[in-house]
Amino acid sequence: MEYYSNQINRLIEELARLPGIGAKSAQRLAFYLLNQPKDNVRQLAETIMDAREHICYCKECFTLTDRELCPICSSSQRDHSTIMVVENTRDLAAYEKTGKYDGVYHVLHGAISPMLGIGPGDIKLKELMTRLQQDISEVIIATNSSLEGETTAMYISKLIKPTGIKVSRIASGVPVGGDLECIDEVTLLRALEGRVEL
Ligand code: ZN
Repeated sequence: MEYYSNQINRLIEELARLPGIGAKSAQRLAFYLLNQPKDNVRQLAETIMDAREHICYCKECFTLTDRELCPICSSSQRDHSTIMVVENTRDLAAYEKTGKYDGVYHVLHGAISPMLGIGPGDIKLKELMTRLQQDISEVIIATNSSLEGETTAMYISKLIKPTGIKVSRIASGVPVGGDLECIDEVTLLRALEGRVEL
């Protein structure tokens, strides 16, 4: 027996596709939205569409941005010879929150995972190697300490080693399997400061 009309079911199904949203949360969100004034819902929908249409990759570091060059890459205050390699834009934001890192970033958009069939060609690795042809003094690998993150770190360090550029890995103060964005700023800072050369 169907409890809800088709359109309500469709809304619940669409919401349930979002990461971390189960069937119950999807129902709660659906009814919340349906009880909101139409203008509020329209504004939310338009904000989502606007973001989706205007957000692109920074042509330098590949973070998500609404400009050709993100604010970090276009800043003259940053040290453009130090690149921190992170898995995604949320990890970049976590390091930015510490306010203590003044280099630039490179966002891989994933990590190598043989199990999930994600190879080096599926993340922004070629793009990183291209950037290294500029005047770079250090690459800090700050991928997660998960199996995938470690595999990626090892792969990258092997690629970079022959270039003679200094490669370091953030300290293992970051708990194993830890998602970078869930870790507090002090721990992140300690991991960054205690990085070891590979
Ligand atoms: Zn950038």
